[in-house]
Amino acid sequence: MGGIKRKMKRNKAKRAKKEMKQQLMMFEQLGDECAACLKPFDKKSKEHAMTWKVVVREKEELVRLYCPDCWDKANKIIEEFNNDFRDAQETGRKVPDES
Ligand SMILES: [Zn+2]
Repeated sequence: MGGIKRKMKRNKAKRAKKEMKQQLMMFEQLGDECAACLKPFDKKSKEHAMTWKVVVREKEELVRLYCPDCWDKANKIIEEFNNDFRDAQETGRKVPDES
């Protein structure tokens, strides 16, 4: 009589707690410096909190912190890599012989 319902509710709360604990663990793993240039991350700085990037790899339970400079650099490298890749694909493509 209402007992099952209460039990279900408790289970849900338990799961939420577990998830929170997991997130907390990840946060604890979060370093306090950029993973690339080792620039210190100021946890009290609002600007840092807004601009720094956190990369989470849930599989490896890895959390990495990147300062905006390194993040930009990394993105540019990826962009260039993609451009190169596209160029290579385009130049490598055989031009159909029109004659
Ligand atoms: Zn950095």
